Amino acid sequence: MNRTQIIDMPENIDGVTNVHDLHVWTITSGFDSLSCHLLVEDDKEEQEVLQKVINIILEKHKIEHTTIQIEKAYLEHTEFKVKKMVAPFVFIVGD
Ligand SMILES: [Zn+2]
Repeated sequence: MNRTQIIDMPENIDGVTNVHDLHVWTITSGFDSLSCHLLVEDDKEEQEVLQKVINIILEKHKIEHTTIQIEKAYLEHTEFKVKKMVAPFVFIVGD
């Protein structure tokens, strides 16, 4: 798995403003899991964007198990302000 690919991937998706708290890890050999927070543009349908992202993760990165939290800018969570966000990071454990 390519680290840079994972980090760059979400920025190319229409409707996605920001991805943060991105983690990828291997549970058992050949079974990768991904979790992240997705900031979706206010005027976009979040479920459509979510399905697009899930499909891209599956097709490009062969990760079938995803846990993705959807956020919109007007409902930012407090402890992780998007405006203060640095680049998304990836945490890989295992082979
Ligand atoms: Zn978040």
